[in-house]
Amino acid sequence: RAKESGRNTFALYKSEMQAVSDARLEMEKALHHATEFKLFELYYQPQTNDKDELIGAEALIRWKDEKKGFISPAEFIPVAEEIGLIVEIGHWVLNEALSQVATWLKEGKWHLSWRMSINVSPIQFQQAGFLPMLKAQLEKHDVPASCVDLEITENMLLNDLASCLEKMNAIKALGVHLSIDDFGTGYSSLKYLKSLPIDRLKIDQSFVRDLLTDKSDEAIVHAVIAMAKALNINVLAEGVETLPHYDRLREIHCFYYQGYYFGHPLPPDEFIAAFVHDSATLKPSL
Ligand code: C2E
Ligand code: MG
Ligand code: MG
Ligand code: MG
Repeated sequence: RAKESGRNTFALYKSEMQAVSDARLEMEKALHHATEFKLFELYYQPQTNDKDELIGAEALIRWKDEKKGFISPAEFIPVAEEIGLIVEIGHWVLNEALSQVATWLKEGKWHLSWRMSINVSPIQFQQAGFLPMLKAQLEKHDVPASCVDLEITENMLLNDLASCLEKMNAIKALGVHLSIDDFGTGYSSLKYLKSLPIDRLKIDQSFVRDLLTDKSDEAIVHAVIAMAKALNINVLAEGVETLPHYDRLREIHCFYYQGYYFGHPLPPDEFIAAFVHDSATLKPSL
């Protein structure tokens, strides 16, 4: 009896594994198709300062599968990284985001001081061709480098610090800004931070979420802000969902924000309608 049920359990386990690998293969196939036919979109989420001024937007990829509807980038980006498609997808993202900034600049809907934040996967960043590609994209779209901010993650630094640093310096030399995304969840040491040409840390939303109730999260956020200030790096809080979070962040001298409290990621036209008013009132910001 025991043997029998053991066997059944195994059979069930096996079919579940089969289902998982079928789903995975199906996603890989769909991703190849979506990449080939450019079936992605970019949504834009506002980034603001403590004077409630827009300082920029983060471009966030969206993929609507014919059968499954929207699939979260948290789900498909890791798969795209594993199968190498992220390089092509990342190229599409950069092209699309820069083309959008170029259009908005021409239409008087984008202020020169605003930054378009673009997520760059470590795998994409490590490509030998990344820097020439970035340069070519800036030239193609004729977008000032100072309007661009690349979001990279701490874990990128684990790989090859020297070549990473060299590439970051070359990117900074172009005038492009660099942010560390999801700060606090990875492995960067304070020593790295001191030597890296970083403009901004984005404190991960996991620390911001419990800021009001969890003393250690509050202490971490506070410490990050103090440290960044000493290193002359800006800090932006991600995942700011409520007014009390915003108030608390301001109290502890965090002056840049992104989150549902200010606005959700939106398609381009909706982003402009919601957050950008006529060009005469586009406000400069820090
Ligand atoms: P991320 O770069 O840290 O982006 C922030 C994520 O938090 C976004 O999720 C955004 O919609 C979400 N978010 C913003 N405000 C709030 C808030 O107040 N509360 C909560 N709970 N969430 C908030 P999204 O768009 O689903 O993207 C997930 C992740 O996928 C991104 O995290 C990024 O790592 C990756 N990703 C998105 N677009 C791209 C892309 O174009 N290229 C690459 N390489 N990765 C991307
Ligand atoms: Mg990001
Ligand atoms: Mg983040
Ligand atoms: Mg994140």
